[in-house]
Amino acid sequence: MLTNDQLSLWDRENFFHPSTHLAQFARGEMPSRIIKTGEGVYITDRDGNRLLDAFAGLYCVNIGYGRQEVAEAIAAQARELAYYHSYVGHGTEASITLSKMIIDRAPKNMSKVYFGLSGSDANETNIKLIWYYNNILGRPEKKKIISRWRGYHGSGLMTGSLTGLELFHKKFDLPLAQVIHTEAPYYFRREDQSLSEEEFSAYCANELEKLILEEGPDTIAAFIGEPVLGTGGLVPPPAGYWTAVQDVLKKYDILLIADEVVTGFGRLGSMFGSDHYGIEADIITSAKGLTSAYAPLSASIVSDKVWKVLEQGTDQLGPIGHGWTYSAHPIGAAAGVANLKLIDELGVVENAGTVGSYFKKAMTEALGDHPNVGDIRGEGLMLAVEFVEDRNARRFFEPSLATGGKVAGALLKRGVIARAMPQGDIIGFAPPLCLSNAEADAIVDAMKGAVGEVF
Ligand code: PLP
Repeated sequence: MLTNDQLSLWDRENFFHPSTHLAQFARGEMPSRIIKTGEGVYITDRDGNRLLDAFAGLYCVNIGYGRQEVAEAIAAQARELAYYHSYVGHGTEASITLSKMIIDRAPKNMSKVYFGLSGSDANETNIKLIWYYNNILGRPEKKKIISRWRGYHGSGLMTGSLTGLELFHKKFDLPLAQVIHTEAPYYFRREDQSLSEEEFSAYCANELEKLILEEGPDTIAAFIGEPVLGTGGLVPPPAGYWTAVQDVLKKYDILLIADEVVTGFGRLGSMFGSDHYGIEADIITSAKGLTSAYAPLSASIVSDKVWKVLEQGTDQLGPIGHGWTYSAHPIGAAAGVANLKLIDELGVVENAGTVGSYFKKAMTEALGDHPNVGDIRGEGLMLAVEFVEDRNARRFFEPSLATGGKVAGALLKRGVIARAMPQGDIIGFAPPLCLSNAEADAIVDAMKGAVGEVF
């Protein structure tokens, strides 16, 4: 067997890791982290350290690690037929069954599923479909997409543009011209402290409307948003936000993409975040929880309203000019079918709701009064703790202090993986949806120790 030293050497010599400080990694200032096994909410590295993964990988392993039923389904599919494409009407039992299972679980107005491989490519698909849609409807000027600051929608050319985080734009010549950003519904960091949640929601909707009017409603095709902001800080919307936003979008005939890559398939304690907040999207993006990341697969779930126009389009233009070699890959589809069955059998959607409430309450009891804890917020099994220099004076830390990263490091020493979010002093938790109350307590205990060590 290869030694860890050998693997670390090859790792530094050959492997270009995403979202990594390349120079520090190459110089050996960061460890090479080699993960070997996973079971339930735990992963184990090659040194034998067992870690509670309170971020479910990248908030994706919804059913937990090591589920043999999914592994068996993948193996059986690989033995029977590892690959066939899905162009010009081809499919497999797994991909057709999965499309039916998704539509059965999705909001009622959803009609068809386009399969891709990642959240990023699904959002690229969505934007192309919306441009096609407006061209077919004879309004070629209606093309701009509104996204929110702090939104995360991927890191491709278009999706990296939609993402409203500076890190993903810097020196990449993004955002592209067709993308514009509006206010994030980030109640904790609102400028006007006198506003109630409802008033702040109305303010955000008003900012959106102002932007639409400045640009010209006839130039705006769609608005994209995550039901709960994820990578931008795990921020649930303030009360009334989605109703207020949807009223504005309807007024100007602007389509809504609900990016449910994180919230889809149970994370908020509902099958979709759209169900949770009464969002009536025209397209839903999903990935991660669709297979619980046992294999790469994404789904653009398209409403009847959009689908009808796409159909018309192909009657005018011929086959739709959009497809990936790996769309509806049989192995991903088999993983998806087994995963969605397990999501139902294990009851993890309900569990995310009940354990999520328990987890937030326990975290609040443990840290709610700490002078450097400004906010503890969450919905279902998405929870964030935001640190401040002085809570009473509402003084924030200098970003370069990276307190979130320090707390993440102190948590790791205590055997818990959480994520320092890329902007702000925020530590995020999004564990597998099978988390138990006892495991939630273990995370809270580790947080008490970690916060005590850092502040
Ligand atoms: N959309 C959201 C809301 C996400 O959180 C992510 C990834 O974290 C993406 C899109 C992009 O997905 P992927 O990394 O699979 O391309």
